[in-house]
Amino acid sequence: MSSKSYSQPQKIPKNWRMICPTCQKEVDILEIIVENNSTKYKFACGHSHIHVVLQETIKIWESLKGKLRHGQPGEVSPHKEFIYKTMPSGDPHLPEGVRMIINIDRENNKYDQVVVDLKTGKIIHEEHELLDQHKPKK
Ligand SMILES: [Zn+2]
Repeated sequence: MSSKSYSQPQKIPKNWRMICPTCQKEVDILEIIVENNSTKYKFACGHSHIHVVLQETIKIWESLKGKLRHGQPGEVSPHKEFIYKTMPSGDPHLPEGVRMIINIDRENNKYDQVVVDLKTGKIIHEEHELLDQHKPKK
């Protein structure tokens, strides 16, 4: 258990927000720590949330979406968004599924997508392009 390939804490930009499962309020995310079979979210409210994937029983797919605003929800639309999820790959070579991370930055017109093999932690697909030139695939 010495060399996990994707276990470094992922530093989250200030003001990423999501609903804290404990408070049921939108709070800043301080940190997301990804391990092979668990994901830990640390929130500004002091709570943290650990999501564990039990590999040998039922596969649990997780999904996290966050938004960053300069003002209050309902008053201004978010200028940054991220989507963070694990999902089946549909590829027999990737039986453990994949982790997809999408960052959308409307201020800087950037779209970044990274897909990681959950089994090996290796990046298997990357897209980095201008948001206004990005065409979502169906
Ligand atoms: Zn909380």
